[in-house]
Amino acid sequence: MNTQNDQNAIFSKGEKVSADYFTGTAWLKILVPKDETGTYAVGNVVFEPGCRNNWHKHPAGQILLITDGKGYYQEKGKTARALAKGDVVVIPSHVEHWHGARPEGSFTHVVITNITAQGAVEWLAPVTDEEYYNLKIE
Ligand code: MN
Repeated sequence: MNTQNDQNAIFSKGEKVSADYFTGTAWLKILVPKDETGTYAVGNVVFEPGCRNNWHKHPAGQILLITDGKGYYQEKGKTARALAKGDVVVIPSHVEHWHGARPEGSFTHVVITNITAQGAVEWLAPVTDEEYYNLKIE
C-alpha cells in the first residue's frame, strides 16, 4: 500500500519505477494501458526531487502534460527547457532526450507514448550528476 499519496495530486502515485532507467526515485501510475489498437499508452509519472530518467528515444514520439511542480526537458546537444504546471512538450520520434525534476522539488507529468513494432522507448545511458547539475537552461 502506498501511504505517501499527495492529497492534492490529480492521480495516485502508483508504483516505484525501476532504478535501471531512472536516477533517484520516481513513481508510475498507468492511466490507460495499451488498448486494442496497440498504438498508445498513458501514464502519470511523479519524480521526487533530483530524480530524472535516463537519456532515451521514442520510436514514435511522446507527449508530456505537466500537472505539478517544476522540472526539465532536454534534447541531446541542446539547452534544457524549464517546465512548470500547464506546460506541454511534444517530443519528436527518435530524438535523444531526458525529463525529470529539479534538484529542489518534485515534478509530475502525464505521458502519452506512441507504441510501434519497435516498442515505446529505447533506454540509453543515465544523465550523470555532471550533466544534471551543470544544465544550461534556455
Ligand atoms: Mn521521453
